[in-house]
Amino acid sequence: MPPNLVWFRQDLRLEDNEALLAAVECGAPVIPVFINTLAHDGQWAPGAASRWWLHHSLAALDKRLRQRGSRLVLRRGPAADTLIRLVRETGASAVIVNRHIEPDDAQTDAELATRLQRLGTQWLSFQSNLLFDPDAVRTRQGRAFTVFTPFWRACLSQDEPPAPRPAPARIPKPRQWPTSLPLNELEPLPEIDWAGGLRTAWTPGEAGAQRLLTEFADRRWRSYDRDRERPDLPGTSRLSPHLHWGEIGPRQIWHALHARAARSRAADARDNAAAYLRQLGWREFAHGLLHHFPQTTDKPMREAFARFPWRKDTAALRTWQQGQTGYPLVDAGMRELWRTGWMHNRVRMIAASFLTKHLLIPWQQGAAWFWDTLVDADLANNTLGWQWVAGCGADAAPYFRIFNPASQGETNDPNGNYVRRWVPELAELPAKWIHRPWKADAATLAAAGVKLGHTYPRPIVDHALARERALAAYQTIRKRNAPS
Ligand SMILES: Cc1cc2nc3c(=O)[nH]c(=O)nc-3n(C[C@H](O)[C@H](O)[C@H](O)COP(=O)(O)OP(=O)(O)OC[C@H]3O[C@@H](n4cnc5c(N)ncnc54)[C@H](O)[C@@H]3O)c2cc1C
Repeated sequence: MPPNLVWFRQDLRLEDNEALLAAVECGAPVIPVFINTLAHDGQWAPGAASRWWLHHSLAALDKRLRQRGSRLVLRRGPAADTLIRLVRETGASAVIVNRHIEPDDAQTDAELATRLQRLGTQWLSFQSNLLFDPDAVRTRQGRAFTVFTPFWRACLSQDEPPAPRPAPARIPKPRQWPTSLPLNELEPLPEIDWAGGLRTAWTPGEAGAQRLLTEFADRRWRSYDRDRERPDLPGTSRLSPHLHWGEIGPRQIWHALHARAARSRAADARDNAAAYLRQLGWREFAHGLLHHFPQTTDKPMREAFARFPWRKDTAALRTWQQGQTGYPLVDAGMRELWRTGWMHNRVRMIAASFLTKHLLIPWQQGAAWFWDTLVDADLANNTLGWQWVAGCGADAAPYFRIFNPASQGETNDPNGNYVRRWVPELAELPAKWIHRPWKADAATLAAAGVKLGHTYPRPIVDHALARERALAAYQTIRKRNAPS
């Protein structure tokens, strides 16, 4: 019996993996394959942190496959050509995938389906990386939703996503395995070991994802609605990199939370579950937007913003990247990002707002830095997040709503513990001053060992002046937009 190829992309798991299950159910031998297309991915090739993750995730996937009598074949090259070569080598009768909706992938899939048809090989595509099919969720006029609340309402009115399916117990192997690159050659680890912080913070792979989900679904979801804006508390699930690489599927999370909510006697159980699933809704929304508006990775959704008077300021960009802006919450977030490859959502919003509004630096430059440094760098979510903050995206925050990083810190990190952790030079400051050290008197600063301009920077811009400058910049595109 000729084998079937299962092409893994961002679905690096065995549980609830429709493509893999379909292949196993056929009864034919299965050849699981991952293709490193990095050199051909252009601007959106995975960044450094993502590549570190990918290395470990592939190792974990191979291990799980081996426990079931199979293994992962690793190849490198342009996706379509490499896959066709593998089909010819193995005589595969079908290539089976989970649908992946990044702009280049849709094109590659369409091209592959045609080329495979000519070879007499089937192309089978499943949907298990999203809860709802982005083509099925549309407005009454048949258009894509560009506002979140009606989008999510429309999703929730659809049939419930099917229950997740367990991993296959055994995976039939081919008579002969095709050659495979060693992992170290396919996706080498960085030569300079900058990834120590990442190693401490994360366990890439399906087992790490399931551990986090169990931890979250056993305890933390009960206070999600209350704690999710608090970067000083472990209030969120931290599942984002696992979701990005598909080490866990959204249906697994959906059903785990529904089951917990149904069993719980707590009055607010349903509210907490709904609040959490709504965040997964933002992920669905982001993927739908990328699917329907692929140009938005680089171009603002609201076209007027193409004329926004952004500033070119390499020095300020660097200061922001290094977490040296003099605004403690922004600096804490940027340093957390550098050390762990992750940043709390509320802090992402404040750091991104600071770059685009206080410094007037284009959102695309911030998105590029996040792309390189986040372990959860995700084209759909990152694009939505940056455009939302910059005010130029679908259902975006209004431009004139400009976060004050100091008062945001006081609200969301009330004791200053998040800042103390990531900006240790301010650790001895009392909570009252930790988010605005420039307001503290000389004696308080001296007692805390803080010397502004020496041990910690003074603010790179004054909040009130920066706010006025941002609003004035916004007026220039509003005026030009106004009807005459
Ligand atoms: C400027 C900016 C850039 C961002 N870039 C990314 C990115 O590259 N990759 C990424 O996964 N998320 C991104 N986000 C969204 C969000 O910050 C992260 O998904 C979240 O912080 C991940 O932590 P968590 O898993 O603990 O989230 P939880 O609160 O536990 O949420 C569960 C899941 O829901 C999804 N989710 C939550 N919030 C959002 C959101 N606002 N938009 C889309 N999906 C969401 C994520 O998949 C997340 O894992 C960005 C947000 C902003 C403001």
